[in-house]
Amino acid sequence: MGQGEEAPAQTTQETRLAALCQGFQEKFSQAPQFVSRAPGRVNLIGEHTDYNGGFVFPVAINRTVLMAVTGPEEGAAPGQVRIFSKDYDREVTFNFNNLEKAPEAERWTNYVRGVAWALSQRGLLDPGKLPGARIMLESDVPQGAGLSSSAALEIATALALFQLAGISDVAIDRPKVALACQLAENRFVGANTGIMDQFISALGQPDSALLIDTRSLEYRAVPLGFAGRGLKLVAVNSAVPHRHDTGGYNQRRAECEEAAKFMAKVYGKPEDSQLRDFTLEQLLGVQGRLAPVPFKRARHVITEDARTLKAVEILGRGFSHESDLTTFGRLLRESHESMRFDFEITVPEIDLLVNLAWNQPGVIGARMTGGGFGGCTVNVVEETALDAFSKNVWQKYRQETGLDAKMYVFDAVEGGTIIA
Ligand code: ADP
Ligand code: MG
Repeated sequence: MGQGEEAPAQTTQETRLAALCQGFQEKFSQAPQFVSRAPGRVNLIGEHTDYNGGFVFPVAINRTVLMAVTGPEEGAAPGQVRIFSKDYDREVTFNFNNLEKAPEAERWTNYVRGVAWALSQRGLLDPGKLPGARIMLESDVPQGAGLSSSAALEIATALALFQLAGISDVAIDRPKVALACQLAENRFVGANTGIMDQFISALGQPDSALLIDTRSLEYRAVPLGFAGRGLKLVAVNSAVPHRHDTGGYNQRRAECEEAAKFMAKVYGKPEDSQLRDFTLEQLLGVQGRLAPVPFKRARHVITEDARTLKAVEILGRGFSHESDLTTFGRLLRESHESMRFDFEITVPEIDLLVNLAWNQPGVIGARMTGGGFGGCTVNVVEETALDAFSKNVWQKYRQETGLDAKMYVFDAVEGGTIIA
C-alpha cells in the first residue's frame, strides 16, 4: 500500500460489524436485533446537474454507515430513542412522538430525527407507532469529504425504521425513500442538496454505476467492467474540507435558474424550464445577451449533461471500441476543466491533485467529484500503476501544500441493506 492509502474497506467490514455488535452488547446489555448498512458514494461524472433536471452517474462505494438497532428498554417512555455514535462517542435521547430539531451540539442527530420526520411527512411510515429504539452507529465514510456520509446515515436510518416497523424490503419504494431522505436533509438539517446522494445510497448496484435522470428519477445500472480491464476507482481526499451549506452552492443554483429563466423567455418555453431543457446551440444563441456569469454556469451544466450521457454510452458498450478508454478519460478531464473555468467550484489544491493525476502513467482519467470547494477527486487508474500513483501524488501534493492527501480504492457495492 502506498503512503496515505487507507486499509481496503472490504476487509474491514466483518471486523467493524463484530466490533459494533460487541459495543452494542456492552452498552445495552443485549445483542442488536439487526444492523442496517448504507454506502457513501462517489460521482463518476455529472456534477451540479442534479438541481438542473439533468443526469448524474454515481457509484455506491464500499464505505458504509452501520447502524445496530433494537427496541427500547423496559420501562422507557413510549417512542424513546437512545442513539449512540461510536465515532463521536456521544449518546443523545429523543422521542419519535416529538420530532423537533436538535440543539446545535446534537446537530448530527438531525439526520436521524429528520428521516423519521420526513418518512412521516411523505406518508411512508408513522414513527409515532414505533415503540422506540436503542441505536448504535459507526461509519467509515469520511465526513465532509464529499463522499456523502450524510446520505449514508439517512438511508441507514430509513431502512432501520422500516425494519423496526416490520415493513419488509419488497414493500419499500426505494426511490420514494430516497426522496424522503432528501427532504430530511433539505428541510430538517437545512442543507440544500439534490437527490443524487440519497438515491445512489438506496439504489446502488454492485460493480455498476447508476445513471439517474434526476427529473424523472428513471435510473439504469451500467456495469463498470473495471475489474476485467484491470482498472480501479480511486478517490483522493484533498484534506481541504468542503463547505457545504455556504453561499457558493446556493449562488450556483441561483445563477443556473437565472440562465434557464432567461432562455425560457427567449425561446418561448415554460417559465419553470430547467437547463436540462436547452441545447448548447440555444445557449450560444443568447451569448452576449445573457450575463457572462450565468452564461458560463449554464455552459457547464449543458455540456456536463452531454458528457455524462457520452460516458454512459461508452461504458454501456464495455469499452469495446479502440478509442473508448481515451475518450472516457477525456470526458473526465473536460468535466474537471468545465468545473474549474465555467462553474468555478474547484480550489487550487483540487486542481493540483487532478493535474498530478493527469501526469501519472496509468491514469485513464481524473476530475474533482462532489459539490466542490474542496473534497475529493475521482480517478480511474490501472491496477498495476496504483502503487506509483498513490506514492507520487501523495508526495508531490504534500510538498506543494503541506497537506496529507488520503487515498481510497473503491469497489462499487449495492445500496442500503439490512444485515440480519
Ligand atoms: P458529507 O455528506 O459530504 O460527508 P455533510 O456535511 O453533508 O458531509 O455530512 C456530514 C455530517 O453528517 C456530519 O457533520 C454529521 O453531522 C453527520 N454524520 C456523518 N457520519 C456520522 C457519524 N458516523 N456519526 C454521527 N454523525 C455523522
Ligand atoms: Mg452530505
